[in-house]
Amino acid sequence: MPVYEYYCSTCKEKFELRRSMADMDAPAACPHGHADAQRTLSRFIALSKNESGYLTHELGVGGSGPVQ
Ligand SMILES: [Zn+2]
Repeated sequence: MPVYEYYCSTCKEKFELRRSMADMDAPAACPHGHADAQRTLSRFIALSKNESGYLTHELGVGGSGPVQ
């Protein structure tokens, strides 16, 4: 079963979860019990969905942002 990365907006932390592809986009419970964690999206999807703000931050971490 593949491992997906999720982000809890309450904890402001990412965590990994092993689940089936059928469930990969369903909200997940974070290790602290918050049930509203969302799957982190790959950068090409993030371009069209950034309303929550954290995806923009993730892009910076991914190395595609300004180097200097
Ligand atoms: Zn949480």
